[in-house]
Amino acid sequence: HRFKISELGRNVFWLKGPEREHLVRVLRLAVGDQIIGFDNSGAEYKAVINKIEDQSVTCGIMEQDYPEVEARTQVYLAAGLSKGEKMEWVIQKGTELGMAGLIPLRTKRAVMKLEGSKAKDRVERWQKISSEASKQSHRVREPKLFPVSDWKELKTLLPSTTQWLIPYESEKTKTLQSVLRNFSPQEPIALLIGPEGGFDESEVLWAQENLQAQSVSLGPRILRAETAAIATLTLVLGHYGD
Ligand code: SAM
Repeated sequence: HRFKISELGRNVFWLKGPEREHLVRVLRLAVGDQIIGFDNSGAEYKAVINKIEDQSVTCGIMEQDYPEVEARTQVYLAAGLSKGEKMEWVIQKGTELGMAGLIPLRTKRAVMKLEGSKAKDRVERWQKISSEASKQSHRVREPKLFPVSDWKELKTLLPSTTQWLIPYESEKTKTLQSVLRNFSPQEPIALLIGPEGGFDESEVLWAQENLQAQSVSLGPRILRAETAAIATLTLVLGHYGD
């Protein structure tokens, strides 16, 4: 069983809040049981439960490890807001595949609109889905879930060295493979994926001009937004052997 560490000490860590609840109420683990903790630093700790209290569970660390599970190339998804469960599916599968983070993007043709506290609540829910998927896939760094953002904010969210890709069905010549050959796997890559209605041409032009985004074709068939997101992520990570 894997848990996100609430507080890390010397040879010991503590689980609090929902992690403690899950250990005590759902899994009904007891003193002496062994678990694994991670703290999003890239490390993983084998530990034994020492004490179960009302507010926290104390675990003694037996072994520290740095498993090679995270992709070396940081690949982010910037996905146009899509309806219903599509975003959730993309977040869950993207986490399993190794995405570094997700930016939910407001776009012109999006059917789904998310503003204010509704947007904040939704991102919290997505963060939970991503945390669960991280445990499931034995990741040691959870993907970062960014707030719902506008085009103009994109540049401020990721490092200035980020290499932007925009799969666009009207791009007929440039392939993903040809563009990736000129990208550096040492710098982050961000994939801009349209919502159900696709990108407006003006958005693609804006991304090309302001983010130096490379538009690419994913082939002659039009993929659903969520398929395009997961397929592109898989192809990019696969290209670099991640
Ligand atoms: N209407 C469908 C849906 O309900 O999902 C298709 C949406 S498709 C227009 C959504 C996004 O997927 C596009 O904005 C683009 O980023 C990407 N996409 C889909 N097929 C593609 C292709 N053949 N080449 C490049 N990008 C593609």
